[in-house]
Amino acid sequence: MVDLKGQYQKIKAEVDAAMQEVIDNTAFINGPAVKEFQADLEKYLAVKHVIPCANGTDALQIAMMALDLKPGDEVITADFTYVATAEVIGLLGLTPVLVDVNPDTFDINVEAIEKNITPKTKAIVPVHLFGQCADMEAIMQLAQKHKLYVIEDVAQAIGADYIFKDGSRKKAGTIGTIGCTSFFPSKNLGCYGDGGAIYTNDEELAKKIKMIAHHGQSVQYIHDVLGVNSRLDTIQAAVLKIKLKHLDEYAAARNFAADYYDKVFAGISKIKTPVRSKNSNHVFHQYTLQLEGIDRTKLREFLASKDIPAMIYYPIPLHLQKAYKSERYEEGDFPVTEKLCASVLSLPMHTELDEEILAYITKAVLEFVRK
Ligand SMILES: *Cc1c(COP(=O)(O)O)cnc(C)c1O
Repeated sequence: MVDLKGQYQKIKAEVDAAMQEVIDNTAFINGPAVKEFQADLEKYLAVKHVIPCANGTDALQIAMMALDLKPGDEVITADFTYVATAEVIGLLGLTPVLVDVNPDTFDINVEAIEKNITPKTKAIVPVHLFGQCADMEAIMQLAQKHKLYVIEDVAQAIGADYIFKDGSRKKAGTIGTIGCTSFFPSKNLGCYGDGGAIYTNDEELAKKIKMIAHHGQSVQYIHDVLGVNSRLDTIQAAVLKIKLKHLDEYAAARNFAADYYDKVFAGISKIKTPVRSKNSNHVFHQYTLQLEGIDRTKLREFLASKDIPAMIYYPIPLHLQKAYKSERYEEGDFPVTEKLCASVLSLPMHTELDEEILAYITKAVLEFVRK
């Protein structure tokens, strides 16, 4: 699904030197590269504070800890997402309130959010799924009206622009109260291990987030709040600092592949290609088809026989997972998510897809569909 090796080859000399420098200086924890990457990312995102941490799941957890949410508080998020989003809500004793998504863009349905707001609701967690932004303008209006926090899950959309109705743009993750991202190797800005970051424009919150990520201490051995241990390794920061310079170019390569797929599949009635949202550009973390009247399992097997991977993100809606069962919902309650889980298929999407590979992949898909 990704070609991390091909991507590495192109920046090998620079990355190897940066990693070697960290090792030579044995500055493994909080070495200079961590601060440098943090500053570079703040500049790239045009956000006041970036707080690096150990992974994207930690980022979400620390964000929620920093907002002083109390057990029983309700947090609304999308049913169609990676499990981490809902997991941290449950871990903190908060109540995840899952809602359905939009059939075209896969993002959280704003009307469904509104319908689920109660006096206990404290936060909304929109997920910028597959590389484009949820409808942040409408979500922020709802949040202001009901005095709710907004935690953006940007794990799949780092670098994407949200486009406001007046045409102005902001980077995904810098619009809500807090943004949370992941540098897992296969993410759009991936390191060579685990990594994550939290963004905010709020000075006080930034201080608190830093403190929580560092055992709840602001001064050594003084612990004012309950914290965790969540750091970005210096080696990972050194890699990320180099890769950040290429992030826009990586997004362009992903869009090249997406445009190619779009063109080949246009007019094939059994395949619905991803719909580009009006209020976002797309950084194509995934290129996800909706299949109609095609045996998805057989198509996957057929592609696998030609060494073409294809993945189902996500096969089971969160509300039908054992760990997230609740009297709140039953099968059939989220028709869009349930249909998507039964019909989506993601094709290889990364920065190293050239015309030859794309022709090979699309030819195989068409061969199966036309059989
Ligand atoms: C990857 C991902 C996460 C978690 O990131 P990790 O770094 O793997 O902990 C959270 N939310 C979404 C939507 C993701 O895709």
